[in-house]
Amino acid sequence: MWSNVIGQSRVKRILLNAMELEKLPGAYLFSGPEGTGKDAMALEVAKAINCLNPAMKALESCDECANCLSIAGFTSSVVTFVYALPKKSESSDSDEIDLKDNELEVVQEQVAAKSADPYHNLDIPRATAIQIGQIRELRLALSRTLSGGKKRVVIISEADMMNTQAQNAFLKTLEEPHANTLIILTSSNANRFVPTILSRCQDVRFDILSVDEIATALVEREELPQAQAEFLARLAAGSFSRARAMIGEDVQEMRNQIVSFLRMGLSKSRQNAAKQIDVFLPRGGGGKFLEKRQAVEQRLTLLTLWLRDALAMATNAESEIINLDQKEDLTKFVTRFGEPRGIIAALAATDKAMHLTKLQLMLRPVMLQLVMELEEALVQA
Ligand SMILES: [Zn+2]
Repeated sequence: MWSNVIGQSRVKRILLNAMELEKLPGAYLFSGPEGTGKDAMALEVAKAINCLNPAMKALESCDECANCLSIAGFTSSVVTFVYALPKKSESSDSDEIDLKDNELEVVQEQVAAKSADPYHNLDIPRATAIQIGQIRELRLALSRTLSGGKKRVVIISEADMMNTQAQNAFLKTLEEPHANTLIILTSSNANRFVPTILSRCQDVRFDILSVDEIATALVEREELPQAQAEFLARLAAGSFSRARAMIGEDVQEMRNQIVSFLRMGLSKSRQNAAKQIDVFLPRGGGGKFLEKRQAVEQRLTLLTLWLRDALAMATNAESEIINLDQKEDLTKFVTRFGEPRGIIAALAATDKAMHLTKLQLMLRPVMLQLVMELEEALVQA
């Protein structure tokens, strides 16, 4: 049902309109910030088109028929869902996707989580690219005749993860006519596509979600109390996935860690900064990698929001401040490091660290680098 997708009423209207008029393009690009429901919407479109329930008139999914269930469970032969997988080992020169047993287990776990909830961000270690082998497999799948569905749908999730080789191979697929097929690319970083791909897709931009939309979804789907839902919705900066990742976390404590991380990082004492990093990134084997990475991402999100607040305060836009209860700390911070240009540079450094956190196995160097860049941005501004 369309209500599985939070908000995005403008986008829903565009898609429904195209479906009603039977004017779906060959390929869509669903672009927009992470956590706004692009994959969820792509799956809804696939279900709606292929739903077997006559009452739905192929304009909405019933979520009950065989097609709706198999598409949602990623077991449908009609819908192909493509996503980044771990890099093949250096020694292998074949393009075949060949996962080790433990990797296969993680992939299955992650796909099951995505099936239970399309807002789940696939979190597969070393899955830094959609490989050319996957695109070859896709082309093979497209050459087979369709059975059991009305229209074939190919969803390439975070399609900008295709490396150049894969993008070039995929371009051929886009250029070939495929009867009765809809290709949907989703991407939070659409600027990474080669222009020829962009020119062949109809771009549908997703809006960031409002505080209200996120809060309501948290109450309805996660059964959070209203006040807590609103607080997390504010911190989530428009992303439902981000809001949900913070459920059950002691956000207050995390924010305190961020403030002292900043304080230590800017005190020119590297030793203290390293100690602060230890607080949320324990040395040694403790904890799973995915948990560590999520912990770092949450702190970086909070740091971003905190710096944005500092910028709002430094530029007299106090109505935009999210961390209202931290005004005292913010005032102190802005008195010392209130140069807007410096805060903007600090935000860029945090953004870069967030990006590297997604790609790298070694998180500590990323954080130490961030400390240095924050110091450079703020102290020497
Ligand atoms: Zn159905």
